[in-house]
Amino acid sequence: MAPDSLADRLDSVRAEVASAARDAGRSTDDILTIVITKFHPASLVRDLAELGVRDVGENRNQDAAPKAAELASLDLAWHFVGQLQSNKVRAVLAYASDIQSVDRISLVEAIEAADKPTGSPVDAFIQLNLTTDPARGGVTPDDLEALVERTLAAPSIRLRGLMAVAPLGEEPRAAFARVRQASERVRTLAPGASALSMGMSADYREAILEGATHLRIGTAITGKRPPAS
Ligand SMILES: *Cc1c(COP(=O)(O)O)cnc(C)c1O
Repeated sequence: MAPDSLADRLDSVRAEVASAARDAGRSTDDILTIVITKFHPASLVRDLAELGVRDVGENRNQDAAPKAAELASLDLAWHFVGQLQSNKVRAVLAYASDIQSVDRISLVEAIEAADKPTGSPVDAFIQLNLTTDPARGGVTPDDLEALVERTLAAPSIRLRGLMAVAPLGEEPRAAFARVRQASERVRTLAPGASALSMGMSADYREAILEGATHLRIGTAITGKRPPAS
């Protein structure tokens, strides 16, 4: 067996998730690992599916749509985690099980306007920007409540909770604690929106300790990403 195969990396991340959950006094049943497969070919997603992975994440519709179409028979859940232009919403909703990067009212309006084929509500996370750089994506903490309220007024959206990326230059656990505190504000408006999508390859242990329910792990499982095309 190759010393560092996909199966090995998946196993070691699963073991590390279980160990962090134990340390946090949490059940692994409450923690969903989404494998971020961006830039990788459909064949890697197929290999992951053979290893039992059901949840994968992508950040660009132009890459995700053909992969989801090619692998439609595998019954995977595709999570959309990238910045999303309003004119791509309809395309993304054709395959995505949720949109984790809702960051502005105009995007909520675009989701509302999109004719979702199944008619069931779209699962959505509001992305919180933990930096002062708008290019990083996400709503600022100051604008969070207004975005939550607008999302709650959209019957075609089911708000699940918050998503965030820990900024460079801040201790990840402190950053994730800020997300947990913001989540308390969200839950005063939307008691059911308790999910926390946070934790990537470098910091998922800290995220679990701060209550993450959804991890988005790429390179620790997939290995190095090919360059973006
Ligand atoms: C790429 C990406 C990840 C995964 O990053 P890794 O460091 O490879 O684990 C998680 N979340 C988002 C939003 C991403 O774009």
